[in-house]
Amino acid sequence: MSAHSAGSDPRPPTPAVLITGASSGIGATYADRFARRGHDLVLVARDGARMDRLAARLREECGVHVDILQADLTHPDELAEVAARLRDDGRIGILVNNAGAGLAGSFERQAIDDIERLVALNTTAVVRLARAAAARFVDAGEGAIINVSSVVGLVPEFGQTVYGATKAFVSYLSQGLSLELASKGVYVQAVLPAATRTEIWERAGADMNALPALMDVGELVDAALVGFDRREPITIPPLHDAGQWDAYQAARQAMIPGFAQVHAAERYRTASA
Ligand code: NAP
Repeated sequence: MSAHSAGSDPRPPTPAVLITGASSGIGATYADRFARRGHDLVLVARDGARMDRLAARLREECGVHVDILQADLTHPDELAEVAARLRDDGRIGILVNNAGAGLAGSFERQAIDDIERLVALNTTAVVRLARAAAARFVDAGEGAIINVSSVVGLVPEFGQTVYGATKAFVSYLSQGLSLELASKGVYVQAVLPAATRTEIWERAGADMNALPALMDVGELVDAALVGFDRREPITIPPLHDAGQWDAYQAARQAMIPGFAQVHAAERYRTASA
């Protein structure tokens, strides 16, 4: 049953899903998969013609209702319009915060305007849309937010420093929101893909000959949705040994009691020669 259906059906309505970055890659694949599950959609990206084509196909194949919101999420006024839609449209029960970009080159050579746009898209837009959705979802006592992060946020060694920093932000934001909102009925998932075959590489000006092996985008999103259905707070489709993540979390949490100190650690109190 789709969100615009009504009548005497006793089942709860299937919520509509707002997906950012829905014109290609991971976002377009989420749109396909949620449409096949019977969810109405609101697609958000800059390329309206591409979203029109995707919407036409999904209406035809899945019989769902699809709206298009053309927006550049680095423009504050356009971002505010998307946030308003999330705030005001009670049919939307799932937000997929997916739009994002990369940036090639070394930090000291990247143009500062490009860095600022990257940070705006990968962090400011994500937190603003999450905030708009969360307020209404908490009032409703239900809802879900999927934030598409990246394993790069765990690996400064990869040398994609600003991109990785934005993804570390998204993962932290998701983990914190999961802890804050779960008891209020709102599920928050961070999805951490590794290298996946989409347009992001060419868009970022990457050397296509130097790319690692890439995961198929359909396999990535299908795996992420298995994690979604299990209500995992963090889903890392390429990580085969889940125990490594658990060990990483345990090591981090083991430090927490150690932070509550009024004196600096001994190694900083030793007078140096
Ligand atoms: P993609 O095919 O390039 O898709 C990016 C999407 O974001 C497009 O729909 C694009 O649409 C939209 N977008 C870009 N700039 C935008 C802006 N200023 N305003 C609104 N929308 C904008 O790349 P993808 O791989 O699917 O990326 C999706 C997410 O996955 C990103 O957050 C990315 O960081 C993450 N991720 C990807 C990989 C990978 O290897 N592919 C790995 C880890 C994480 P328009 O151009 O039409 O606006």
